[in-house]
Parts: sequence; structure tokens; C-alpha cells
Amino acid sequence: MCDVCTTVSRRFFCGGALTLPLSRIARGQAPTAGLLEPQLRLTNTNSPPNSRTVALTFDACPGHFDHRIADTLVRYNIPATIFVTGLWLRGNPQGLAYLLARPDIFTLENHGAQHLPPILGGGKIFGLTSAGTPAAIRAEVQNGAAAITAATGRAPGWYRGAAAIYSPQAIPLIEALGFGIGGYSLSADAGASLPHNVVAQRMENARDGDVIIGHINQPKRDSGAGIAAGLVALHNSGTRFVRLNELTRT
Ligand SMILES: [Zn+2]
Repeated sequence: MCDVCTTVSRRFFCGGALTLPLSRIARGQAPTAGLLEPQLRLTNTNSPPNSRTVALTFDACPGHFDHRIADTLVRYNIPATIFVTGLWLRGNPQGLAYLLARPDIFTLENHGAQHLPPILGGGKIFGLTSAGTPAAIRAEVQNGAAAITAATGRAPGWYRGAAAIYSPQAIPLIEALGFGIGGYSLSADAGASLPHNVVAQRMENARDGDVIIGHINQPKRDSGAGIAAGLVALHNSGTRFVRLNELTRT
């Protein structure tokens, strides 16, 4: 396989012929009408028959560091993209050191400075205060990137907003800052809310090209045990893993 040939495609759940209902709208959990939840998939994976290639992405929102996940990634040499916030970096120096010790496995990307959803107009979504204005969205993205550069010496190239939901106007604004939008195609843990057996099953059922999202900041929740089990299952099935920084954006 040629990793550098692997590309990603994104499309939006809302918009044009691809309009699909947001699952969160269907569950009635938040006023997400008019907002976008970008989907991201790998294309041109060149996976052999009966094999699959996936990208693992784990969010480190505010919170802690889940060694059940991190230790499994290290044990099996599974590469993963970690979306970190400036808040998480400040609160988890030992977790950061753990990630920095294995640059062959972990790449840090931008989850914002303060975990403020890139949504215009104020209000809250999933309990998170929205950035509210274009200037605040820019500050969230750029200050998050600066925190990663300060911590790692490397400038991130991908941004995933808090809650992974965006105002439509925020997408071109963020892309103009030079970032790819870190969407996903498979939610493993639904915000670290699912029981371990469900999480593991979701990961085992991943399809070729999936960009999988999970959370590495909730070590006390049951979901993390499921992600660790899912990682072992993916590894044992011969799944190949790519990080987002290895990809070509199309
Ligand atoms: Zn988050």
C-alpha cells in the first residue's frame, strides 16, 4: 500500500443531494438545525481484498488521559491521530509526555484552545458554550494550533471543533486558516457514552476507509475499555492504520 496515495473525501450530512438527518437531531438532544456535522472517509485505500484500512482519531477534550487506550496503541504499535485542546495540554503534562515519547505512533492535531464549538450566534450545544463569532472561532482554532506547536514543535494541519459540529460559515473560515476539517465516518463511543461491548462491536464492524472517532480523555468511563478491546480486534484482523497527517486532502 502507498500511504501517501491515500486520500480523504469529505461531504456534509447537510447540503444538496447528500442531505441526511443528523442523528443528534433525530434523538432530539440539541438544537442542531442548520448546523453541519462533516463526514470524512478515506478514499483510494488500495486495501487488498478482505482487508481494510482505517484512520483512528481520538479526542482529548478537557479531561484526563485514558491509559487503557494509549497503552493498547503502544503495545500493538497502532498509529493514531489525537485531537487535543489547549486546555487538555495544560492539564495533562504526563499524558502529553507519553504521547510525545512515541511520535512514530501518535500525531497531535487541533481540537481548539478552549473546546468551544465553532458555531456562530452563541448558545450552548451538548453543554458546551459556542464560540459565537467569526473572531472567536479564529481565536479558538489559531490558539489551539499555537498550543500544539509550542508543545510539539510541529504545526497541526487538521482541526476538529468541539462537538464536531459547525456553523456552515465556519467551514470556509477554518479552511482559509489552512486546516482540514477533522470529520469522521464512524463514531465508536458516542462521546464516551456507550458501554464497552457496544463500543468494541462498533469498531470491529468498521469498513474499509472509515475514519473512526473515540475519546481518550475519559479514563473512568466504560467506553474506553471498549475502545481498547476494539483496537485489539482490529489489529488481530489485519487492519491497516493511517494517520490524518499522512493523507492527501482532496
Ligand atoms: Zn471534544
